[in-house]
Amino acid sequence: MEKKNIDWANLGFGYHSTDYRFVANYKDGAWDEGALTTDDKVVISECAGVLQYSQSCFEGLKAYTTEDGHIVTFRPDLNGERLENSAKRLEMPVFPKEKFVEACLEVIKANKEWVPPYGSGATLYLRPYMFGSGPVIGVKPADEYQFRIFATPVGPYFKGGAKPIVVRITDFDRAAPHGTGHIKAGLNYAMSLHAIVDAHNNGYAENMYLDAATRTKIEETGGANIIFIKPDGTFVTPKSNSILPSVTRRSLEYVAEHYLGMKVEEREVTLAEVESGAFSECGLCGTAAVISPIGRIDDHGKEICFASGMEEMGPYTKKLYDTLTGIQMGRIEAPEGWIYKVD
Ligand SMILES: *Cc1c(COP(=O)(O)O)cnc(C)c1O
Repeated sequence: MEKKNIDWANLGFGYHSTDYRFVANYKDGAWDEGALTTDDKVVISECAGVLQYSQSCFEGLKAYTTEDGHIVTFRPDLNGERLENSAKRLEMPVFPKEKFVEACLEVIKANKEWVPPYGSGATLYLRPYMFGSGPVIGVKPADEYQFRIFATPVGPYFKGGAKPIVVRITDFDRAAPHGTGHIKAGLNYAMSLHAIVDAHNNGYAENMYLDAATRTKIEETGGANIIFIKPDGTFVTPKSNSILPSVTRRSLEYVAEHYLGMKVEEREVTLAEVESGAFSECGLCGTAAVISPIGRIDDHGKEICFASGMEEMGPYTKKLYDTLTGIQMGRIEAPEGWIYKVD
């Protein structure tokens, strides 16, 4: 198989149209079979539910070339399950997770030449998504939907090593206690755009959101869960019903406990605990970057600095990062069921 002629190492994290995408339509109460297509355009009613009332949800996962030359993807069943939950909460029809996994594998297989080679640092990012395509003018769920998956090659998230970032505690809220924070809905991102642009304008890489009810507990950022490490190597991650259940974070919890022998705590984490210096390392985790180390949190001018500093990942974070990426790239044996071989 010939790979596409692309400067893989210098690709950014952007959209690049590839050869095939998957499309399925929901009409008259049922999904059709779905099929691959080369058509990268979507044609829908001007009154589509997604355009009027933002009825949409999405997923994100990656395909990798392993050290021994296979093409694989990582835990797509969890993305399928999460999309089912997002659809239910948004009154959209469920696209069954078994079919979701099959469709992901089909899209990767059809775009094999776009899966970056091992060692390039690049990966093939898959974007499954679903939206209300039927017309809606009174406020109600659409009665027609489209589910699609496209693939786009993305470059190494960190060019020249992962430098720690600075984040701020924001006054904006991301998710209400009984709202939609736990599902991957487009609307959660639409309303985070103002906060992120404002953070960037003020020199911060990200917003760290607090729980909306009490504003005392750490939740997550706009698109990544948060992990903390205690000086004794305990892995701590916030627990809350309004946090999006990150596949990366859940995988890191397993890796910390079963591969690295670290103690793992999923519990409430207060801002006061973070300010007290209880943690020596901190990071964001998600599919895109795996882990981005946080060197400092700015809380309205008060600086919370982590012992790991502003130059490199802390030692525990680095071990977590190396182990999880080692599993994804086939250098380290994976737990049963984590790796799906495409060829
Ligand atoms: C997608 C997402 C994450 C990361 O989830 P992964 O499954 O690890 O990619 C974290 N937080 C939010 C709000 C997200 O939308």
